[in-house]
Formats: sequence, C-alpha cells, structure tokens
Amino acid sequence: QSQREPVLTVTGLRRSFGGVQAVDGVEFHVAAGEFVSIIGPNGSGKSTTVNLVSGVLRPDSGTVRVQSTVVRPGRPEAAARAGIARTFQNGRVFGDLSIRENVDVGLQTTVRAALPLRALAGVPVLRWAGLLAELFVALVPLPGVRAERARAAGRIDAELARFGDRLTPRADHATHTLSYANRRRTEIARALIADPVVLLLDEPAAGMNQTETAEIGAQLAELKAQGQTIVLIEHKMTLVRALSDRVIVLDEGRVIAEGSPDQVLDDPRVVEAYLGR
Ligand code: ADP
Ligand code: MG
Repeated sequence: QSQREPVLTVTGLRRSFGGVQAVDGVEFHVAAGEFVSIIGPNGSGKSTTVNLVSGVLRPDSGTVRVQSTVVRPGRPEAAARAGIARTFQNGRVFGDLSIRENVDVGLQTTVRAALPLRALAGVPVLRWAGLLAELFVALVPLPGVRAERARAAGRIDAELARFGDRLTPRADHATHTLSYANRRRTEIARALIADPVVLLLDEPAAGMNQTETAEIGAQLAELKAQGQTIVLIEHKMTLVRALSDRVIVLDEGRVIAEGSPDQVLDDPRVVEAYLGR
C-alpha cells in the first residue's frame, strides 16, 4: 500500500456492549502523513473504534500502537501522551470556557509531559496535590513559566487563525454562546494544538450546512498538505472522495473493504452495506 512507516497500527480490536459486538476484530494501519477515512452504515462500529483507539473505551482485546509503542488500553491520557488526539461525534467543548481556554486545555496535555508534577492531577488520590502543583505553577511568576505562557498564547492564536475569521474575533467568548459549527471548529483546534501524531475526527461535518462542509473540507485539505496524519470518520462522501488516500469500510464491527476512494466507494458490497439498511 504505502512505503511510509505506519504511525498508527490497530490489531485485533474487539469490544462488545451486552450482547452487541460493536467492534469485532478491527485491524488497520495508518502511515505517516496519510489521510484515511473510515466509513460504514450507522451502528457499524466507527465511533466505538475511535473510542477504543483514543482510550475513551477499554477494548475486550486488541492493541493500539503509535509508532512502535503499545498504548496502554482504556487510558485517554496515555493515548494523548502517545500522540493521539480526537474529536467527538457530538462535539464536546467546555461551554463555560472561552474558545481560547478550550484550546488551552488541549495544550496542557502536551505541557503535562514536560512538567511531571502536573501528571499527578491524573491520579485520583493525588488529584489535589496535582491541582496544588498546577496552582503553584500558575501563580508563582517564574520567568520560564511566563515565557511558556506567552508562547502558548501565540500558538493558540495561530491555531485559531487556521479557521479564518470564524474563531479569532470570538476567542474570548464562552463557547456555549457560539454556533454549532464554531463549537466544532473549537474542538478541532483543541485537538490540533497538541501537535498530535494522529488526528482522529468523528464526523466533523455532521450537522454542518454545505458552505460549512466545504470550508471544513478545505481546512482538512490544508492540514493534509501540511503532512498531518488524519483518520476521518464521515458520512459525506464528497469529503471522503476528495480527501482520502485510503478508505476503510466497516459493517457490523468488521472491515469489509479497503482501498482507494474510487475502488471502495463503487464496490457493490459497500453500496449494499449502505443501502441494505
Ligand atoms: P457508528 O459510529 O458506526 O454509527 P457505534 O460505534 O456508535 O457505530 O456503535 C456500534 C454499535 O455499538 C451500535 O450497535 C451501538 O448501539 C453500540 N454501542 C455503541 N456505544 C455503546 C454504548 N456505550 N453502550 C451500548 N451500546 C453501544
Ligand atoms: Mg458514530
């Protein structure tokens, strides 16, 4: 397929909910700089796959590797540290926080690796010690910390600028006051600012109108041109066709087809999986 090294390798991934086998032995890999789309009918296991890969859910079996490192299963912070960033199908932002603060949350996941004390915040019993450390770092005017915050502000501005004038003029508005599309853009900015090895997007264009969909398509094309490795889950086939190097089709928790967009999207089995329900 690709001569480039895989940066994400998923093997034997399984997860059931009660009697429902949501993900049933999913395997795939994504090469550095590759744009891979995962498609499939509703309920075929796409979101569950993203949840397993990003550590939001624990798999019954299977492994997720980033480069050569096996990511500790069921631990979102371990996945984040390994370089996996994701957005949620329904869009998740902290409504009371501003755009800037939401994006800053994404930045903290990377700062955390450089500042071991802050990692304490992730351990339930040590949570208060971690928060105190966080407070100390925020309040004590160490020159290094100030410089770091200034750099962070610059990076946040640059990330917001990616979305033209959609986010920048509203950077300090609480996100619950924003349009749906702007909340979704904020979530993408939050995922991107961690400079992830792999960016997983779960239906970023869902609920967006045609103009907004075209705009998000252009932004994804730009990210791809910049070499960002991307896994896109999407129902809008115009986006999938235009952007994907490779398309993976799920049905009933299994990969039923894989290949270039042209190979896959016209495959009768794929068409049938979509139309069959
Ligand atoms: P897709 O994203 O492809 O639409 P999902 O991964 O959301 O599919 O769901 C796959 C299957 O797993 C569906 O049958 C769904 O109802 C079930 N499922 C997903 N998440 C849960 C959950 N948290 N609890 C119970 N069942 C779930
Ligand atoms: Mg889904």
